[in-house]
Amino acid sequence: MEVWAIQRHRVIRRKNLSYCTMTTLAETKEVFRRADAVCFDVDSTVIKEEGIDELAKFCGVGDAVREMTCKAMGGSMTFKKALTERLSIIRCSREQVNKLITDHPPQLTPGIRELVERLHQRNIKVFLISGGFRCIVEHVATQLSIPLHHVYANRLKFYFNGEYAGFDETQPTAESGGKGRVISMLRERHGFKTVVMIGDGATDLEACPPASAFIGFGGNVVRPQVKERSSWYVTSFEELLRELEKI
Ligand SMILES: [Mg+2]
Repeated sequence: MEVWAIQRHRVIRRKNLSYCTMTTLAETKEVFRRADAVCFDVDSTVIKEEGIDELAKFCGVGDAVREMTCKAMGGSMTFKKALTERLSIIRCSREQVNKLITDHPPQLTPGIRELVERLHQRNIKVFLISGGFRCIVEHVATQLSIPLHHVYANRLKFYFNGEYAGFDETQPTAESGGKGRVISMLRERHGFKTVVMIGDGATDLEACPPASAFIGFGGNVVRPQVKERSSWYVTSFEELLRELEKI
């Protein structure tokens, strides 16, 4: 599912030699310590699982969706097309989504609660930017005391009777490169000078630039291409907490 982003990333890297993942470990740590905003990916970063896989399993189509994900990874499918294809298999109702959140609430990654709390104490703004679904990500934000207007994610649509009606294709997070567009918008809207993106996937890495720095997170799943390109790669949020203690 991350292949299209990796391919795009390679192109950007060749064109732009000042690409932010070419900074050193010490520079990335320094940028993190003076960040005025920190953006987190959600699936396999802030939470242990992939929201869309959990939703598919819950709706009884886990295997079919996993197969579709593999197919998308092998081809040149855009993010939006891959999302459309998988949702057309899942076709979840509003009731199923609500029941998933009640029966199988997203599991927070150890240490994230403490890290977000510490960032908030230091008046650093925290955002969640996800290719997953707003209804699930909002639940995560509430647990972490992140305001809901700091959540950027895709919106599922339902008919009046609660049946699946598609998703909002106008959200930036529905497109390849969407996370970067959200960060550019945040910089413009809030005047942030230093924005750090943290995530496990290629779409997170790809958001830098416009993010000032990227920190790869491998605490739930290690994606070798992301690890290889991250100047700072951590497997626990403790490492980030320890870095904040140095301020
Ligand atoms: Mg992720």
